[in-house]
Amino acid sequence: MSDFDDLFAKAKEFHGHVCPGIVLGTRLTIAGMRELGMNPRENNRNLIVYVEIDRCGADAVQAITGCSLGHRSLKFKDYGKFAATFVDTQNGNAVRVSIHEKNRAEHDKLPPAEVIRILSVAPEPEILKIERVRIAIKKEDLPGFPVGKAICSRCGEQVSDNRHVTVNGDALCRNCAGESYYTPI
Ligand SMILES: [Zn+2]
Ligand SMILES: [Zn+2]
Repeated sequence: MSDFDDLFAKAKEFHGHVCPGIVLGTRLTIAGMRELGMNPRENNRNLIVYVEIDRCGADAVQAITGCSLGHRSLKFKDYGKFAATFVDTQNGNAVRVSIHEKNRAEHDKLPPAEVIRILSVAPEPEILKIERVRIAIKKEDLPGFPVGKAICSRCGEQVSDNRHVTVNGDALCRNCAGESYYTPI
């Protein structure tokens, strides 16, 4: 089994089905880790990945890197773009890899199985854009013990990692500060 086949199988198993997004996510992850000099078969403790989309490809990134929300090593930036930035926290090196499928219009006319085959062997420059970037990670975003704990003065719930806001000197959770994503019933 080639490196790609092996890692693709891992992504496929985690995601639950085969689709072009998983193929591209696998290619993207292989490129990002390679650019940082990391081996996807090893446990890379210094790797943090920012994914910019919550679709199929994000699962490939998680399955192959082992980065996850629970380890604080997977960050979600809701940009709706099929891209991810790989950061080595030890030396600060960072590389952003985005999908740039040059023949997308032609691929859209083909059956999915054929697209998957094409994307799995396409030369990288035909499907990926790779760029070196700089990224400043705040200490409260890093793995490790929570920092900046606060108790919300309105609901009494604990807020970790400086995610609270201060209004007139009082600590408030984002919900109580009016940024809620839900409405109590
Ligand atoms: Zn999928
Ligand atoms: Zn609150």
